Amino acid sequence: MNLDKMLELIPKTELHCHLDGSVRPTTILDIAGREDIITSDTNLNVLEKQVKVFGKCNSLKEYLDKFNLPIKIMQKEKNIYRVAVELLEDASKENIRYIEIRFAPFNHLLDNLKPEQAVEAVLSAMNYGRDHLGIMSNLILCILRQEPPSRGIKLAELARKYSSKGVAAIDLAGDEANFPPEIHTEAFELAKSYGIHRTVHAGETGIPENILKSIKILHAERIGHGTCAYRDKNTLEYLIAHKIPLEVCVTSNVNTSAVNSYREHPIKKYLDKNIVVTVNTDNTTVSNTDIIQEFKYLVKYQDFNFEDIKKVIQNGVNYSFASQEDKNNFKNSFNSFMDSIK
Ligand SMILES: [Zn+2]
Repeated sequence: MNLDKMLELIPKTELHCHLDGSVRPTTILDIAGREDIITSDTNLNVLEKQVKVFGKCNSLKEYLDKFNLPIKIMQKEKNIYRVAVELLEDASKENIRYIEIRFAPFNHLLDNLKPEQAVEAVLSAMNYGRDHLGIMSNLILCILRQEPPSRGIKLAELARKYSSKGVAAIDLAGDEANFPPEIHTEAFELAKSYGIHRTVHAGETGIPENILKSIKILHAERIGHGTCAYRDKNTLEYLIAHKIPLEVCVTSNVNTSAVNSYREHPIKKYLDKNIVVTVNTDNTTVSNTDIIQEFKYLVKYQDFNFEDIKKVIQNGVNYSFASQEDKNNFKNSFNSFMDSIK
């Protein structure tokens, strides 16, 4: 089997995928057209320029602005449900067998939805995915860094309410340069006390000290990105000693200029140093990528071999927030695939 075919068929995980950054452009066009969010002369070409990054942005803010239109069309339960089902369909086609979807429920209340309704819409889609697409999933609820601490506390309570129904963790996302992790200490303390997992975007675009702060102050069990960890020796040593996984999203890091190029990304160095690395898309639409494409970039620019690919997928399942049963299911399908190519 050639490598492309193998990348297509091998069961994969995805631990870092934002729902609002992964909406099919055709769906945005459809809903935005019907709800008069865009003018009738907007075509797919024009729309894609508004929601996708091609190459590099000048700042993380410019990248984050690509989410504005997708969020506008995700203000009704049926639209949130549709977007989530389609994301699961797309993931399933790529043989992602376990996915953690994340979104910020408070971004979806412009049409008078309750946060509970937004969460339930995604959970319903995840149940559909499990029953009809054979894809296992969990949901991560995001606090946006610029939101006040009281919102973060509400989010932790919301996560607790749905913790037995598919909400596995909370996350801190958004503009890292202007909002340090400690703003949301209380929410993460609460989540920990409720037994809810924690992951935090940190060290994405150049503030390595946020990585250890997120682990020590916010009790982060995983780090979103951690791209610039290499700039601080203590951080690297800590990640290795404590086996804190990095949710690496290479194309996204190129888009936001967190790294200059695919070739300059530190992912292979991290893997070789025994840091727990996972491979993820961040946003399939905004970053104009998918999980198979991410692996192809790693093979092309980072000299990833088959052993590296297997390793990061195994990290993905071992360090996921999945139940033991889901982990076992994943490992069974992974092992069957490996046996089939012997
Ligand atoms: Zn992210």
